[in-house]
Amino acid sequence: MRILIVEDEVKMAALIRRGMRAEGLAADVAITGDDALWMAGSTEYDVIVLDVMLPTIDGFETSRRLRADGIWTPILMLTARDSVDDRIAGLDGGADDYLIKPFSFAELLARIRALSRRGPIEKPTLLTAGDLTLDPASRRVWRDETEIVLSTKEFALLEAFMRRPGDILTRYQLLEQAWDYDYENRSNVIDVYVRYLREKVDRPFEAQAIETIRGTGYRLRADGGRAPVTASGDTHRSA
Ligand code: CA
Repeated sequence: MRILIVEDEVKMAALIRRGMRAEGLAADVAITGDDALWMAGSTEYDVIVLDVMLPTIDGFETSRRLRADGIWTPILMLTARDSVDDRIAGLDGGADDYLIKPFSFAELLARIRALSRRGPIEKPTLLTAGDLTLDPASRRVWRDETEIVLSTKEFALLEAFMRRPGDILTRYQLLEQAWDYDYENRSNVIDVYVRYLREKVDRPFEAQAIETIRGTGYRLRADGGRAPVTASGDTHRSA
């Protein structure tokens, strides 16, 4: 098992590394977020232990950038401040778990082992389909640079689509994703909200992101509905 420790306090980093090596784990140290980004990009780590308090780019930003770079190594965030805000920011930014300083070495090891067993899980912090972007954490949506204001239900429905771009979703699947169980299960509610969504995310932009699949349900085009359509009906998509 190979661990990347990201911590600018040299003594703390050395202490953690020594402890890990004593347990037979390989451990490298990065002292800045920038170092962590290139190290994690060039070496495959099983777990990244990431301190929140770092110079230049902090732990939250480092974790966001790692995820944006497509690095899904489990991240254990170290935070000195026991604040709920910190934990939420950390987990929204792509961290998988957090540990509050000071911590016991035994607990650090236990968390690392648990995370390494789980392996990398892709959890995009931003969902995209072409020029449509949805941020589940801040509950905001944009087409290109233009922010789109959605109601809670419209947002929930669009999020359900954007978690599975290109897939055909039945009305039932959409209901399950976007409405709670106590909602009266009328399938036309989906049709009504799809109409609302099209008025906001498609019509003002002359786009057609949400397609009706007759007899089945709906599909959000993975290209966001604005890419050129070829003669065969397939859309060009960059790999
Ligand atoms: Ca630090």
